[in-house]
Amino acid sequence: MRTAIIIGAGVGGLCTAIALQNNGIKTTVFEKAEMLGDVGAGLVLAANAVRSLRRMGLAEQAIAAGSKIMRTQIRTHTGDVLAETDMSNYEDLFGAPGIAIHRAALHKVLLGALPEGAVRLGAPCISVDQDPDGVTARFEDGSEARADFLIGADGVRSVIRRQLFPQVSLRYSGYTAWRGAVTSQDEAALGITSESWGRGYRFGIIRMDTERIYWFATANAQQGVTYPLHERKNMLLKIFGSWHHPIKHLLEATPAEAILHNDISDFAPMKQWSSGRITLLGDAAHATTPNMGQGACMAIESADVLGQCLVKNAAIEIAFQEYETRRKPRTAFITNQSWQIGRVAQMENPLACAMRNFAVNTFSNNMMTAQLSKVMGVEA
Ligand SMILES: Cc1cc2nc3c(=O)[nH]c(=O)nc-3n(C[C@H](O)[C@H](O)[C@H](O)COP(=O)(O)OP(=O)(O)OC[C@H]3O[C@@H](n4cnc5c(N)ncnc54)[C@H](O)[C@@H]3O)c2cc1C
Repeated sequence: MRTAIIIGAGVGGLCTAIALQNNGIKTTVFEKAEMLGDVGAGLVLAANAVRSLRRMGLAEQAIAAGSKIMRTQIRTHTGDVLAETDMSNYEDLFGAPGIAIHRAALHKVLLGALPEGAVRLGAPCISVDQDPDGVTARFEDGSEARADFLIGADGVRSVIRRQLFPQVSLRYSGYTAWRGAVTSQDEAALGITSESWGRGYRFGIIRMDTERIYWFATANAQQGVTYPLHERKNMLLKIFGSWHHPIKHLLEATPAEAILHNDISDFAPMKQWSSGRITLLGDAAHATTPNMGQGACMAIESADVLGQCLVKNAAIEIAFQEYETRRKPRTAFITNQSWQIGRVAQMENPLACAMRNFAVNTFSNNMMTAQLSKVMGVEA
């Protein structure tokens, strides 16, 4: 039986472990965190990712743990609807629904599909080595693990990528993001999946299930500015408190210490992801800004495809080459397109914003469905 090591138990690492295990490869995931508890706020998984989850036997559980997205809006900061897309027929169009789900709920579904002991927590990987017979991963506590091949699924700041391809550097998008999840009975919040655009600011509202709402906010900002936990909420209320209902209500209902903050960075599409018996997956290989809600979706698709390539090819290097050939064009398209969307959505100039809003308002529905078809309609 072939053996694999995966570094990182995020969505990408866990889905890869499931795809490999489903294909008869004994896999161990090493995760630096001591606990896999509350891993952030919500996540949108579009139809393309749900189809990949279906091939792994997990779609129905994920759909049941989240909620189907039926309608989405782009609005102004005062609440005027610029564009509305009816997604109720997307299941027929794209073969699966788009869903919103709490990250912890998705993790629970993924962990439930793995055998006991498949994930080792509190294991930060510091380096990897390979020889003609296999790979060795070295951990902070001095321990080592060995397998036939290794997958670095350790996120946008991947240690494995830095070791293999040190020339790749992150590029800061120019904006920063906050996220939160709240229980809300507010009808306006429960019924809507929307993104509201101001000048250099955005606020998104996504229903995750019948009670919980996930929200995100973005602002143009210098890189690396940190905000003490207790100040985050007041600062957000200052910026977004006067925006349309129920934004103020959602911010007020979120405990300050539960608000997550990240600068948004990606890197330009890489020419190569693999070196011998080691490859990269998820944000480690193809990080993207979150403007298309496709980062985790791409990680899930990549896991699905990598599993297929490893089953088809006994030689690891050939499997990795096929995986790269199949995945690089699609992930590069998402990274580049998402970067461009971010530039438009984060515009500050009043005239440019007025023109942008006019264009979105005029060309919305058909254009949106055509754009989404390129993403959701394509098989991984
Ligand atoms: C604001 C925001 C909103 C987003 N919204 C969406 C969305 O709606 N839909 C969507 O599809 N995507 C979304 N994304 C993108 C999505 O979060 C990422 O693409 C996804 O989490 C990538 O998964 P991953 O497993 O590759 O990496 P990660 O989720 O970063 O997981 C990497 C794991 O590796 C571990 N790790 C790191 N270093 C080491 C090490 N040295 N040793 C061991 N373990 C290590 C980490 O602790 C972590 O658990 C969003 C991103 C942001 C920032």
